[in-house]
Amino acid sequence: SVPVITIDGPGGSGKGTVSRLLAERLGWSFLDSGALYRLVALAALRRELPLDDADALAELARGLDVRFELDGAGESRTLLDGEVVASELRTEACGEAASRVAAIPAVREALLARQRDFQSPPGLVADGRDMGTVVFPHAPLKIFLTASREERARRRFKQLKEQGLSANLQNLLRELAERDRRDSERAVAPLRPAEDALEVDSTDMGIDAVLTEIVQAARQ
Ligand code: C5P
Repeated sequence: SVPVITIDGPGGSGKGTVSRLLAERLGWSFLDSGALYRLVALAALRRELPLDDADALAELARGLDVRFELDGAGESRTLLDGEVVASELRTEACGEAASRVAAIPAVREALLARQRDFQSPPGLVADGRDMGTVVFPHAPLKIFLTASREERARRRFKQLKEQGLSANLQNLLRELAERDRRDSERAVAPLRPAEDALEVDSTDMGIDAVLTEIVQAARQ
């Protein structure tokens, strides 16, 4: 079977950037599972579905028409219902809606096979909240990446600014606290490290240091 490295952790821990760079360095495929939950949320918002209608949302997740591809310049892009989605997917509103739909067991169930389909040789780096605990429980290397909430809020702030989106540090802190609570207290697949995960606290580490630590762990 195809080797998988799972990278789980709370929002703003740097796992998105780290996972992408790691996949690039290894020449492996990359799964951004958060994007799938964000896409379900975005599709629901567009269709004006209530975010607590479990049956409708699960059906939406099962039939989600999404493609991840490279454009002519080699940049990755995401298509929902055949149309490119851009910064819309990264807004706090979308992240917030994603964490609501992600609390619905039937939605998570509907996305399981889709996530496992990302496994292709020579390997997969999977970024999310439950990659090591639920989706790829047999992954040979599991990382749980954390950072203090203040540092995560600062990183989000910088990221949003760089994307030309508006941001407010105090609001981000509040939203992160709320999202942490919802992600770790939900009944299905709550955010927690897998028993065999290597925990990395990146509060005082740069991306390169985190990458080096993971690559070293992968060699062992
Ligand atoms: O990582 P990202 O911020 O894109 O994820 C958005 C939301 O999707 C998270 O707050 C979380 O509630 C949910 N999610 C999840 N399981 C994953 C990935 C994301 O529940 N594997």
